Amino acid sequence: MDIIQLLPDNIANQIAAGEVIQRPSSAVKELLENAVDAGATNIQLIVQDAGKALIQVIDNGKGMSATDARLSFERHATSKIRKIDDLFHIKTMGFRGEALASIAAVAQVELKTKRKEDELGTYIEIQNSTVLKQEPCAMEFGTSISMKNLFFNVPARRNFLKSNASEMRHIIEEFLRVALAFPQISFSLINNGQEVFHLEPGSLKQRVVQALGNNLNAQTVPVKDENDYINIYGIIGKPDVSKKTRGDQYIFVNNRFIKSNYLNHAITGAYSELIPNENFPMYVLFLEIDPAQVDINVHPTKQEIKFEDEKIIYAFVKAAVKHSLAQASVSPSLDFSLNAEMQQLDAINKPFNKEERDAAATSDLYKTFTQKNQAHFIESENKSDLKHWKDFYTPSQQNIQHTQQAFPIDSSSDSVFSFERSDVKSSNVEISLSDNAPLLQILRTYILAPVQTGFILIHQQLAHERILYERFEKVVHQHSAVSQQLLLPSQITLSPPDAVLLESLLPELQLVGYQLQQYDNTSFTVSGIPADLSMGNETKVIELLIEQYKHFNTEVKFSKREKIVRCLARQSAIKAGKTLTNEEIRQLVEDLFACDIPNLSPAGNSPTFIDFKENYLDGLFGLK
Ligand code: ADP
Ligand code: MG
Repeated sequence: MDIIQLLPDNIANQIAAGEVIQRPSSAVKELLENAVDAGATNIQLIVQDAGKALIQVIDNGKGMSATDARLSFERHATSKIRKIDDLFHIKTMGFRGEALASIAAVAQVELKTKRKEDELGTYIEIQNSTVLKQEPCAMEFGTSISMKNLFFNVPARRNFLKSNASEMRHIIEEFLRVALAFPQISFSLINNGQEVFHLEPGSLKQRVVQALGNNLNAQTVPVKDENDYINIYGIIGKPDVSKKTRGDQYIFVNNRFIKSNYLNHAITGAYSELIPNENFPMYVLFLEIDPAQVDINVHPTKQEIKFEDEKIIYAFVKAAVKHSLAQASVSPSLDFSLNAEMQQLDAINKPFNKEERDAAATSDLYKTFTQKNQAHFIESENKSDLKHWKDFYTPSQQNIQHTQQAFPIDSSSDSVFSFERSDVKSSNVEISLSDNAPLLQILRTYILAPVQTGFILIHQQLAHERILYERFEKVVHQHSAVSQQLLLPSQITLSPPDAVLLESLLPELQLVGYQLQQYDNTSFTVSGIPADLSMGNETKVIELLIEQYKHFNTEVKFSKREKIVRCLARQSAIKAGKTLTNEEIRQLVEDLFACDIPNLSPAGNSPTFIDFKENYLDGLFGLK
């Protein structure tokens, strides 16, 4: 006897519904998204008993014809895709054509819908996937769907529903996810006759403040970062509003709310050291990316997402958030944290051709870090005392490898934690150097310093860049720049575009200690330079600075101030290949460990020194 039978539609639909409608909030999500897809500008959500008794969504969208209204409840009935290719260019929230069919399988549904151009609307009553009634009705244009008594015919599932408070929380969550993604649409939520949310159309910021709390008004920072590959924008909370609970964290990809530990890690990483470890930053971030680069189809409820190249996304997101925090002067804008891959860009590195490098290397800029006692130099709490070389992060072997890659990302591992590099400040590392430990310059580039746990190898140029970077950053921040007057002011003449650029940078250059006056259209007089720089080649330094600034300018968007500080540090740092005296070496090492972040170059993509521990050395010799 044959035993296989086709399931009746209503049972098949009920089974399928299990995928789509797990609880009231899933129905809320589907109905709200349908309203958004229908082009509504006003959407009302009405629930009773946390959606167990009633979920109703009323919209002023485009409505449906009588035939479409009937068809919309069929499984795989959708107006949103026609062929498989469409899946990869999806612009709508829905596309599976399953939501209404599922809802009609597990609840008592009433639909009223009318298109603008139609005289009359359509009323449909449906239950257990069976149409009970269909008739014309008079109404305004738009659609209203109400579903009553969810799971009335699947008691097992109804019993699984949680308390009203808990289900309501889920509903509000889904409501906010849609409402945040579409600030131009007005939304309201009414629970048991009480209006819980009334969100006016407005900017994203207004929506965030209305939806997530007034206290955010002065506490957010905008994010904006656009390039050919991805457009990142949104609102993030200042570190102060970080919470102990993972609350207001929203990531949207092409306006679709997604959950991504991976991207969350990127964002949280950008806040590292700004907020305590156990706190969670607030963010509402939107990623716009070519739909072909995204697979939204991996999970029935469509919250997980697969990117074609998630590492790039990770890097961009982290950089964008860091950059915003820095821009808002929330973070001390220390490492520019542009991901390594941006730093590798030709344009950024270009200014350093061999000629320029040699010129700089032979210049006597070295003095710059020997002037420890100059007026503006602010000692940071004893840190320069070599005996206090404590708590500095040392890159581990694994981390060092990362820096060789184009991305600071470990491709072999799926553990997100392997991305950490600049962010980790290991507190159990102690680097201490005895007062008269010998320091040795090697290859006129590296400095070898024995420490108690082994030795460290410092890169003199990167280290000095870090030192100068922090120094300039500090004086700019505190407006405490000190200039040294030139005995004879020198004149610098530039091409007209360069002159315009320099003119626009005058205020920032003053902040770091330059005294520059425009002489005529293309000439400037230099009468003073930052106390940290050595005299004798001021015009050359300014030219190099402009050159670097230009390349830097086209690629990334930092504040002028940050760019100037960064360019200046880079241009005036002692170069590899320069022989140093013993005093100079010692001063360099001392200054490095007086830095706030001694272990990384300002660009954040190279270590300034590498720590070789006894264990590691033993291992090299096969002794363990
Ligand atoms: P999907 O949204 O994946 O297409 P649904 O089952 O959610 O599938 O909806 C089926 C179809 O019904 C939609 O494609 C759309 O054409 C129509 N529809 C659903 N809700 C609305 C609405 N609020 N206004 C206008 N049309 C709607
Ligand atoms: Mg839908």
